[in-house]
Amino acid sequence: MLGPPGAGKSTQAENLARLLAVPHVSTGNLLRREVAEGTPLGRRVAPLLAKGELLADDLIVEIVLARLGEMGRSGFVLDGFPRTQAQAEALERWERSTGLALDAVVWLEVARPELVRRLTERGRSQDRPDDTSETVRRRLELDAELTSPLKDFYRARGILLDIDGSLPEPDVTELILERLRGARRS
Ligand code: AMP
Repeated sequence: MLGPPGAGKSTQAENLARLLAVPHVSTGNLLRREVAEGTPLGRRVAPLLAKGELLADDLIVEIVLARLGEMGRSGFVLDGFPRTQAQAEALERWERSTGLALDAVVWLEVARPELVRRLTERGRSQDRPDDTSETVRRRLELDAELTSPLKDFYRARGILLDIDGSLPEPDVTELILERLRGARRS
């Protein structure tokens, strides 16, 4: 599940995981849990999360691949990873070494003013201390610089599903499922 912060990745990933009966692997949730529990990893990454900065590629790759290794072949919805070219390449190496392959990469497209509106709203209403105006700006900047280019990477691989994330939540879920069915048939 790819797309800028505020595009609805987690909401849609949760919906899909429930409907497809597979685990939802969210790097953001995983890291926030570590921070809340005060684990060594949590203490290490807390300042980065608070500022909206990304963890080093090596660290997040190690965390995610360990988690995917536990999932076996049952499938999963991956949310919040990869976020950089290096992460995408590490995931590709993992696919080659396990013989597993991503069925699809969902790209949720939402225009920037709507993203800012959603993130500011979320910062007020939910426990997301990283949704402040400064970190929102930083996360959008990192997304534009590092994550958005992955859209072309996956389009070139022929597995990109470009989805209008500005539609109402249930419509987006339905659209993703429809496109996924199409992608699996082709
Ligand atoms: P999210 O909930 O996906 O927006 O992630 C919250 C925060 O966790 C991000 O702002 C980063 O600090 C960190 N994070 C999550 N996923 C990654 C990743 N793939 N690479 C680096 N940092 C990440």
